[in-house]
Amino acid sequence: MMKELKIRDRFNVELPADNSTINQSRQVFDACFSFVTPKIPSKPLLIHASSETADLLGLTNEDVNSESFVNVFSGKELLDGSKPYAMCYGGHQFGHWAGQLGDGRAINLAEVEHNNKIWALQLKGAGRTPYSRTADGLAVLRSSIREHLCSEAMFHLGVPTTRSLSLILSGDQVMRDMMYDGNAAYEKGAIVCRVAPSFIRFGNFEIFASREDLKSLKALTDFTIRHFHPKIKSEGKQKYIDLFQTVAKKTMEMVVHWQRVGFVHGVMNTDNLSILGLTIDYGPYGWLEGYDHNWTPNTTDRQNRRYRYGFQSRVALWNLVRLANALYPLVEETDPFENVLDQVQTWFFQAYLKMMHDKLGLAKVSAENRGMVLALEAVLQKSETDMTIFFRRLADFSKDTDVKDGDKFLDVVRDAFYQPQEITGEILDEWRSWFVSYQQLLLSEERDDTARAEAMNVSNPKYVLRNYMAQLAIDAADNGDYSIVDELYALLKNPYSTQPEMEKWFVKRPEWARHKVGCSMLSCSS
Ligand code: AMP
Ligand code: MG
Repeated sequence: MMKELKIRDRFNVELPADNSTINQSRQVFDACFSFVTPKIPSKPLLIHASSETADLLGLTNEDVNSESFVNVFSGKELLDGSKPYAMCYGGHQFGHWAGQLGDGRAINLAEVEHNNKIWALQLKGAGRTPYSRTADGLAVLRSSIREHLCSEAMFHLGVPTTRSLSLILSGDQVMRDMMYDGNAAYEKGAIVCRVAPSFIRFGNFEIFASREDLKSLKALTDFTIRHFHPKIKSEGKQKYIDLFQTVAKKTMEMVVHWQRVGFVHGVMNTDNLSILGLTIDYGPYGWLEGYDHNWTPNTTDRQNRRYRYGFQSRVALWNLVRLANALYPLVEETDPFENVLDQVQTWFFQAYLKMMHDKLGLAKVSAENRGMVLALEAVLQKSETDMTIFFRRLADFSKDTDVKDGDKFLDVVRDAFYQPQEITGEILDEWRSWFVSYQQLLLSEERDDTARAEAMNVSNPKYVLRNYMAQLAIDAADNGDYSIVDELYALLKNPYSTQPEMEKWFVKRPEWARHKVGCSMLSCSS
């Protein structure tokens, strides 16, 4: 038996509930959520559990391996005293208002308390809810592996994120048209249990503002402040401005981290932005391999590339404007929101510059170095250059290197180039002039090479969940072999430490993965 979890429900106790319990796709008014029951899976099988996330809930290894664990976190059995529910929210998808969306395949089991912290537990892929629209409420194994591994990897990278407790096969088949090209096929169904202080999104506020339901909007906003931003002590309208400011800052902090590690979310719709500034909803995300501001893994977004790597901060700001519009009825003034947006934009530029200084091992942050950073970003994009390997190897650059002659100075980072033979002529000149200015900055600092390398290696991960790595884990898991899931999970617990027996994961993307579905191309189908 799994130990009993201490239920401390707030969302489904303090906020207005849908008074219908009919589990059919429909519009839900004047309510923050609907009570629902997870679908009973035919043959749940635990593939993997995160012991770190289990620990947050006070669950031991023995608990994780019990039959009740797999039953509860697959939706087969309800926790005693729990009242599961799906949240009502709306959202702007790809720049357009999409109306009511909601938890179409997420079911919140309960909020539980451990060590004075309260965690919301949410199953993804546990069946239909009133918000499922025309879809089935289910999730497939491939996208569940991606969500489970990436949530935990992001946490260990120091990026704010929702967590993942478990990855469970449902035993049911799910029909998906993976690339939306008319080739639908059955895939294995799976359920992930996500864990976070809350899963409230920007879209939860937008839906009420769009319906002019001020009562629910105020209830939800006050609830959010009370439980998740308790440092806000102001009253009246000011507290809503303060909430907006807090959320804006946290959101932009999260984006600075994404840029640092080369993470591209892929679907930054307002229904996928957390009010806590956590990375949420791991769908067609990807990791930069070749450093490229225009890259997005999401084929659904191939034309406009709205959610490309180099645009994530602008999209975050655009989403914050949507949140400001949603909160506006509680304030009825635009100036305070605009001031916050201006401030946070300025803050982002400074934070981004500081982050790039950290990646480069420069202790003295100066606005004058902006040109040097821009020059690096430009030359990195001239010839395909692996972001992770480049920054990791750069830590070994010595201040005394001769950068004036030949091209030996590039040896330290040569491994990062996908086409090393291309680095000649103008590109080589550009690299030389960048290294000259970098070297000058290093020489003007007191830090020696060793201290600088140590500092850089805590900003620049050695191991990230490259798209092809997740795909290898998925292909094996599809055949019943979960060893790569286990291996990647263990590897990504220590992304900044060299793990000598794991060198095979510190390599560029292999050529076979360049144009392969799942590695360079992902759709929203999951
Ligand atoms: P996403 O693009 O995954 O963030 O999903 C957008 C909306 O579609 C959310 O309201 C989801 O709950 C819903 N949705 C996505 N996939 C499914 C599915 N298989 N069944 C039901 N709803 C879904
Ligand atoms: Mg979503």
